[in-house]
Amino acid sequence: MDDAGPLPQRLLASCALPHAWADLPAWTVLDTDFGVLTPFLHCWHTWQTDARRPRMLHYVGMLSPAQAHDLQALAQQAAHTAPHWQPLTDALAAASAGLGTGQHRILLAQGQLSLTLCIGDTTALLAEQNFLAHTLWVHGTDILWDKWRIKALARCSQRGAHLVLDRAAPEAPDGLAEAGFVEVEAENTSLRARFQPRWSLGARDQVPPAIAPQRCTVLGAGISGASVAYALARRGWQVTVLDQHAAAAGGASGLPAGLVVPHISADDSPRSRMSRVGARLMQQHAKTLLRDGMDWQASGVQEQDFEQGSTRWHAHGAWVRPGQLVRAWLKHPGIRCVYGAQVTDLQQREAVWQLIGPDGNTWAESELVVLANATGCVPLMLHPSHVHFLGDGLAQRLEFLHAVHGTVSYAAHRSLPSAAHWPQHPVNGHGNFLPQIPLDNGMAWLAGSTFEPDRIPEQAGHRLAPLAEQHRANAQRLCELLPAVGAELAAAFAAGEVQHWSATRCVTHDRLPLVGPLQDVPEGSRPSLWIHAGMGARGLTFSALGAELLVARLAGEPWPLENSLARSLDVRRPKRRRN
Ligand SMILES: Cc1cc2nc3c(=O)[nH]c(=O)nc-3n(C[C@H](O)[C@H](O)[C@H](O)COP(=O)(O)OP(=O)(O)OC[C@H]3O[C@@H](n4cnc5c(N)ncnc54)[C@H](O)[C@@H]3O)c2cc1C
Repeated sequence: MDDAGPLPQRLLASCALPHAWADLPAWTVLDTDFGVLTPFLHCWHTWQTDARRPRMLHYVGMLSPAQAHDLQALAQQAAHTAPHWQPLTDALAAASAGLGTGQHRILLAQGQLSLTLCIGDTTALLAEQNFLAHTLWVHGTDILWDKWRIKALARCSQRGAHLVLDRAAPEAPDGLAEAGFVEVEAENTSLRARFQPRWSLGARDQVPPAIAPQRCTVLGAGISGASVAYALARRGWQVTVLDQHAAAAGGASGLPAGLVVPHISADDSPRSRMSRVGARLMQQHAKTLLRDGMDWQASGVQEQDFEQGSTRWHAHGAWVRPGQLVRAWLKHPGIRCVYGAQVTDLQQREAVWQLIGPDGNTWAESELVVLANATGCVPLMLHPSHVHFLGDGLAQRLEFLHAVHGTVSYAAHRSLPSAAHWPQHPVNGHGNFLPQIPLDNGMAWLAGSTFEPDRIPEQAGHRLAPLAEQHRANAQRLCELLPAVGAELAAAFAAGEVQHWSATRCVTHDRLPLVGPLQDVPEGSRPSLWIHAGMGARGLTFSALGAELLVARLAGEPWPLENSLARSLDVRRPKRRRN
């Protein structure tokens, strides 16, 4: 027995790995018993040391809540058996601390290894998946893999996929044959098979399971656009980002600093569940790309619930300077940015989109376009010459987008606040307060933010409240959130020592982003016009998650969220009140 142990090696060899993935852009593994951990670590190590490895490895692991709870201990144990796994187990342990039930996305190996952990009941979570695996490892679990569960595995298999089924029930070979698996071979207590049904799989046979990287233009260099551009560039796409401003983060993403904090609701609504996944993902990016304590900090956030009269500590809350993250994402060598590039016209010739400026100049050409230009997508797409690009009923969806202006008040700390009434970490409630944030001109506090209906570009609108009134509203909110701090800072507001930063949020009817294709396409082809917008007041929490979902949908990869949750972000979701 060598240091990797026999099981992981047997699994890889049974599926012709690493030979089978050589030179492919991506490879997807489904492992229904991730808690064993050694197959994952052996696969990761084999992939990492293979000169002909696929650019992206997608690994979907299913495990029970108890296994998730013990994941860090399991990782340390595994590192003892094979010391070369130590860096891998350290990275996994750090990224997976405190995971609850549900689906989570963890980015490892500079984001080239995308690990999707599904924690809970395996059968229920299998029904929530949308991807097609190349390799399926169904081993060592207590689940009886009857014909219905085997059908669920078939639903997640690409044509030609290899399956290893350990501890199979006696009727499993019949179940495999019925579900479309061929070449079923027994080896000790396990079965090997290949998914090659004799019948047509309909759309699954027509659409290539994964789209090869091509050219993409992302419109908007804010946090929505930069997160999508970075996700595509990591997968090998050539991305051009266009923005009308002179530099990145010229819109709402230029916020001096904001909070990444999960949303709380009594019934743990989809919005709350997704906000937890999004906040974790955002912090993974911040941890990898930003300077701790300068550009962001996993400070934790205190939440004041005025309705319940209670406070709650978000250990996974953080403050982030979003402009720093936007710039870090856009530095990827696969991304080219063009600033001062206002797009007023969109044309499609054969399969290529052209994004055109007011002077008729073509800023970019590409096979794929992602609109990440916040409310700017409304006048662009509802223009009579462009509205026909939209799928049935989608013009009405874009009409639901509205603009909400916001101002945050901020000032340098006169002296570093050590008094007992000053919080040492951000506080969130009705409005928020961020103390001791290192802005460009020194340590500052921020108090925000106002919410005021605004106009969408090119629409006739009303006048915003005078700036003094916006500062007054922030000062008032601060007095309610932290009365002693509010009283102390009243003098700074009165003396005009407080500065402001203002921008417009793009808000949807239910306060959840819009993520998905904007076109209806015939079966067998893929949409090439997508949207990632409507981040509202939580772009810092939702943008990295939205980007992973958008790219997973267009590239046929595992989704970062359960199907049922991801549907609440779809452009075509039913129009309901916010939840
Ligand atoms: C005062 C305030 C406080 C906030 N606090 C928080 C917070 O604490 N936590 C949090 O999560 N969120 C917060 N937000 C919200 C957050 O800032 C937004 O959700 C997020 O920045 C939206 O990012 P975006 O990329 O979608 O939009 P933007 O950053 O606005 O980017 C859109 C870009 O598209 C470009 N564009 C538009 N149309 C065109 C066109 N036709 N041609 C070329 N370019 C175009 C624009 O120039 C712009 O740069 C706050 C917002 C405000 C205003």
